[in-house]
Amino acid sequence: MVKDTTIRQLKEFVDKAENIVVIPHHNPDGDAIGASLAWYGVLKQLGKNVNVISPNSFPEFLEWMPGAEEVVNFETEKSKVYTLLGSAELLFFLDFNGLSRIKGLQDVIEQSSGKRIMIDHHPGPDDIADIMISETSASATCELMYDVITQSGWKELLNKELAECIYAGIMTDTGTLSYNSSRPEIYRIVGDLVGIGVDKDKVHKLVFHSNSFSRMKLLGYALGSKMNKLEDAPAAYIVLSDQELKQYDYKPGDSEGFVNYPLWIEGISISALFMEHPDKIKVSFRSRGTFPVNKFSEKFFNGGGHVNAAGGEFYGTLEKAVETFKTKLPEFLVSKK
Ligand code: 5GP
Ligand code: MN
Repeated sequence: MVKDTTIRQLKEFVDKAENIVVIPHHNPDGDAIGASLAWYGVLKQLGKNVNVISPNSFPEFLEWMPGAEEVVNFETEKSKVYTLLGSAELLFFLDFNGLSRIKGLQDVIEQSSGKRIMIDHHPGPDDIADIMISETSASATCELMYDVITQSGWKELLNKELAECIYAGIMTDTGTLSYNSSRPEIYRIVGDLVGIGVDKDKVHKLVFHSNSFSRMKLLGYALGSKMNKLEDAPAAYIVLSDQELKQYDYKPGDSEGFVNYPLWIEGISISALFMEHPDKIKVSFRSRGTFPVNKFSEKFFNGGGHVNAAGGEFYGTLEKAVETFKTKLPEFLVSKK
């Protein structure tokens, strides 16, 4: 639930604005795109001139969402982005809480005179908006989006297609309700979404069971040949080089979920995935229990996220990134700071 006073303010901002822009984070996932497109669909029905601007491209397995083909990609459509942001009176920041999470788009946003509303579920928000809806207890930004839409009195605008976007976001951020999903509220929301008409079998097929052959082969290779355990910590990790990714015809989104598998091993409560890209090493972390991977990632990998799910970037070689993990993790386990 979002505070009533906040909902009233948000509605006033929406009422006053004609041109609205909705922005998910860089490398947007199911939650970021699901929330953005559900909100886009609602605002369109309210008669707004609304656009979703993504800092970069999003994975193919989200292309079925209504409005996906309309999403403006900052990396490839810069001039359009400048025009849209030049006239935007209201900006929504969805599924991120610091401007560094939108990469190059940050500089353009800072020039915009539009009002800002943030809707997010990550801990430790920066002061980046006029209205900050920051609920770390929410399983997904899509859960908050559902609250915002229903509490604003726009429930009838939440049609089957938009409900499917929200459903997909909750499923991707909770590993199909396997983690981060212990509050009964989530099941009431999911129940309502299914009641609205969400075809859950269809969504699961599109999001989780539409892998390419090469992606499944990459997963097999990652688990079979590239996963290791740490000697002195309850941790396991997977390392994939740029050359290996190319060999398996890697596309953005192909490694989604890989980092969860090491946690399926008995005795392992921390996992990491290292992927070498031409300009950086992308790192993902997951944990069970109290080990704060967000703090670890913030300290050693220029990143952040949630206590049990975080990510970051390393600027250096793949070997150095893995070495940092192997030496710093056991120390951090003891000190936790
Ligand atoms: P993933 O491992 O799926 O890429 O990300 C897991 C979580 O960590 C997500 O909630 C995401 O928002 C956050 N995250 C991923 N990469 C970064 C990063 O580079 N910086 C920060 N601050 N958070 C990240
Ligand atoms: Mn999220």
